[in-house]
Parts: sequence; C-alpha cells; structure tokens
Amino acid sequence: MRLKEMIELLEKPTKIIKIEIDLTIRSPLHIGLGDKGEPLLRVLRINIPGKGYIPIIPFSTIRGALRRVTEKLAKSSPDTYSKYRNEEYAILVHSTQPDQGVKAPSHPPKEGDSKRLFRELFKANTEELFEDNIRIMLDELGFTNNKITQLIEIIKRGEYENDLVKDAISSALAFFCPICRIYGTLSFAGRLMIGDAIPVDNVVTDFLTRVGIRRDTRTAAEGALFSLEYVVPGTEYRLILVAKNLPTETDEKLLWATLDYVKKYGLQLGASKSTGMGVVEMKDLKTETIDFSADIHEIWNKMGKI
Ligand SMILES: [Zn+2]
Repeated sequence: MRLKEMIELLEKPTKIIKIEIDLTIRSPLHIGLGDKGEPLLRVLRINIPGKGYIPIIPFSTIRGALRRVTEKLAKSSPDTYSKYRNEEYAILVHSTQPDQGVKAPSHPPKEGDSKRLFRELFKANTEELFEDNIRIMLDELGFTNNKITQLIEIIKRGEYENDLVKDAISSALAFFCPICRIYGTLSFAGRLMIGDAIPVDNVVTDFLTRVGIRRDTRTAAEGALFSLEYVVPGTEYRLILVAKNLPTETDEKLLWATLDYVKKYGLQLGASKSTGMGVVEMKDLKTETIDFSADIHEIWNKMGKI
C-alpha cells in the first residue's frame, strides 16, 4: 500500500469511542514533580474547581504506561495487528527506545530493504510521475524543498541505502504503524486522547522515609534521608480515553488488546516500581461509540425517521 492511500484512509472519519475506566491503587503510588534531591518529595497535585488541589495521575504517565503495553503486544504478534504488509513491517521496525533523541528515526528500515520499501511507498506508474509523487509526499512529510531535490538526485543515482532515503522511509512508515497512529509520533498526533486520571473521592496521602542513594557510587548518601509522599492503596481514580477515527479495524483490535492486558495484569505507575510501588488495577470499563462509517439512511431508519 502506498503512502498516499494510507493518508487518504487516515483522513476518513470512522467512529469515536469513549472509554471510561475506573482505576484502583493497589500499592503506594508516588507521581512526583521531578524534584529529586529534596528532603520532602510531594506528589503532583492540580487545582480542580470545587475540589481544590488534589493528586492526579497525569495523562503523560498513563500514556507512557499504555504505550509500553501496546508496543509489547504489537511486537509480539505483528501479523495479528496489521492488515497491510507495510503495517506489519512498520510494527517490526517501530523503535521503542524511550530516550531516543528527537531526531532519531522512529522506524529505521532494515539493511537492504530500502529500495523495495521506497519504490512501494512512493510508487507511480512512470518514472516522471514517480518523481512528482516523491515531491508531493515528501512535502507532506515536512521535508524542505532543498532536501527533496537532494533526495531525488540520490534516488536517480540508485543509492537507496543513503541516510536521507532511510529518513524518508522512516517518516512514511510512521503512518503505517498502528502504535504510532494510536499514540502519535513526531509528525502527527495520536488518535487516542488520554485525560488525567482524577480521584473519585477524597484522597489520603502518607509518607515513607527512605535513604538517599548516591547515583555515582551506588552507596547511601550520608544523612540523606528523605520522605516520599504517596497516595494510599485503595484510592480510586477515573480515567477517560477517547479514540477518534482509528483508520483500520486492526488499530481498534490493538487498543482493545491493550486494555484487556491492563485489566488482567494491571499497570505500574510512578516512582519506585522495583520496590513494588505504583500497582494500579483496572476495575471497570464502560464504552460509548458513535459510528460515522454507517450509511446515514441506515442511521435514520434505526431512529424511525424515514
Ligand atoms: Zn511506530
């Protein structure tokens, strides 16, 4: 499948799925402000009208944890979660290093695959059209005119293993990657909107006292005791996810598989995961769907309007 066709598919409205999730904290949870080295590490609070400053679980923490589950599932079975060949390939080369620099390619093609992939993603019937196609699509991917001209020269010389070619393939493959379509990547926003998880009732916090560890020598830093504030087990949170226009049914399948996995095994969020902190269980899940792909007459019929 060509990049152009995939972009068209991504532009089509399909449906909106709203998922409401109840989470229960099962072990002390600390999501902090990143103020390492302080004697008192508070949990992150935000001001919610009518409730005051309360500890929340920020969307970024939830997105990171869900994304890791999705990556694990997709990579363990790329065939199950892809409809097209390029999708399967995109999952295989999806880069999961959390600390990859912003410029690192998200889907670096494997050695020797560049020619086939480039011809396939940017294909056209004639050489002349092929060049036009490359121009249009690279422009859409955010490449500068200068880089596009340079890349076309490289292609004309048949140097498909060039870094610029690999970069173009990597950017194009992101559109074929169900993980990136769900959570987003450098070039586009994800289709899954994730809110902050908000406590259902009042929140009780307590403190743990720990000994600071010097990072350089891995020994206890003398006199460096610190207190870690945590949300007590049993606290319930509500989380809302909205999946908007997932382009293929495999994206939806991958999303449901992720939530099933979380329902079975829970998630671990925040600080000190190695000591068993931050275990969160998914208790309940409610969904609502608005389907745009159905024929409008069908919808009217169901509503008894025709
Ligand atoms: Zn990806």
